[in-house]
Amino acid sequence: MQFIETRGNDGKRPAKVPFSQAILNPMASFGGLYVPEQLPELGMSFLEAHRDSSYKTIAKAVLDAYEIDIDAAVIDQALSLYDQFDDGNNPVPVVKIGEKTFVSELFHGPTRAFKDMALQPFGVVLSSLAQARNENYLILAATSGDTGPATLETFKNRDNVKVACLYPDGGTSDVQRLQMVTEDAPNLKVIGIHGDFDDAQSALKSLLSSDAFHAKLAEKGTKLSAANSVNFGRIIFQQIYHISSYLDLVRQGAISLGDEIYINVPSGNFGNALGGYYAMKMGLPIARILISSNSNNVLTDLINTGAYDLTGRSVIATTSPAMDILKSSNVERVLFDLFGAERTRELMAQLDSENQYQLSDSELAQLQAIFGADYASDEEVARYIKETFEDGYLMCPHTATCFKAQETQQNDHATVIYATAEWTKFSPTVAETITGEAGKGDEEALQLISEASKQPVPPMIAALFNKPVAQDTVINKTDIEKTVFAFI
Ligand SMILES: *Cc1c(COP(=O)(O)O)cnc(C)c1O
Repeated sequence: MQFIETRGNDGKRPAKVPFSQAILNPMASFGGLYVPEQLPELGMSFLEAHRDSSYKTIAKAVLDAYEIDIDAAVIDQALSLYDQFDDGNNPVPVVKIGEKTFVSELFHGPTRAFKDMALQPFGVVLSSLAQARNENYLILAATSGDTGPATLETFKNRDNVKVACLYPDGGTSDVQRLQMVTEDAPNLKVIGIHGDFDDAQSALKSLLSSDAFHAKLAEKGTKLSAANSVNFGRIIFQQIYHISSYLDLVRQGAISLGDEIYINVPSGNFGNALGGYYAMKMGLPIARILISSNSNNVLTDLINTGAYDLTGRSVIATTSPAMDILKSSNVERVLFDLFGAERTRELMAQLDSENQYQLSDSELAQLQAIFGADYASDEEVARYIKETFEDGYLMCPHTATCFKAQETQQNDHATVIYATAEWTKFSPTVAETITGEAGKGDEEALQLISEASKQPVPPMIAALFNKPVAQDTVINKTDIEKTVFAFI
């Protein structure tokens, strides 16, 4: 399988690259992204064959179908990390919470957020490639709270890779911040920025595309890569759980093989939803993909009106900070898939220069044939958390955003809602909604929820509060390049 570019080719890079190249060097011509030249066709025979397969077996079969240039032994080693999830035999449990409503829990990995689903195996793949080529890589990560911990965790002490992780200071939960600043390894650097997530992500994108920065790193024998979901190495692992969750519904007897379902995805950078879109294109019976947002509802507007409009908008801090995103990187891959490289390049250039674009009526109709969307305010999120808890299910604020689209995008299909984080990562918000006690720090809030729900705080979260802080850099965004370079 070869990979091509969402904004077409600039003549300076190869027009097609193998998987290894697309993940080591994820920025494509004109600031575009890499996408598979064509998706594998899995179809019903694949689903029938894997009806009772384990998660790892399904994962292996999907990766095989992609025919990527990664050694089988490396893939096996990468997938073996799922053994370290809460239940190695079932890393993604699917819980029934209503007659036709199911929650697929993507947070049972080491950092308690769905980022582990892809970053755990991705860390092995990238480090192995770097070692095999005898090259050194700097991974730049920008995080609104979950990518950072998961990236640091996966690359900690891995050979030939260093990580510089940018996060908005004050824009993450205490647990998320502690997960980053207590990571102590010589190949990791955590950098707080005075700014929001979009500032961090914009800084990352401009460094990735800066020839001068590349040249300075090259003098130090270092190449640059990225672990955000702009990297297809993330996306490839984010298709698997959509397939496994579907098969789980079949095994539970909730649907028959071949029945169409809805999926409902709490979305920010659109990597999770894109994984579902690709799974659908490969033959998974998905009737509709619901895109759930918080008050940063730029995706809701895009899907309902065809306008991607950032004029006069700035990021609103919500109780679901991992979704406090306005420039949603992976929408570009859907635009490319539906409308082609030329149109994608035009739309993305317009977004850069005018801060907005408008799809035509026929383009909008194509988008709406696949996607539905709605958003939930913080007040609505709190209500959904409380009501759902009273019905017996405890969830994080990101997952809760999905309940709005469940109400407004009514359908008769079985629906899989994706739970993207454990309640432990956002405990002050969850504690306030279910116990009424506001203004608690994370440590106390965790105890309150644990008592109210009779669920233990998992050991890796409890341990954070006693770990020493190893990373204390907080800087202005103008100093990012200098700070990253000093680390190298
Ligand atoms: C990253 C994240 C999201 C958003 O996922 P995207 O793939 O960026 O759309 C939602 N919820 C949580 C908890 C996350 O960590």
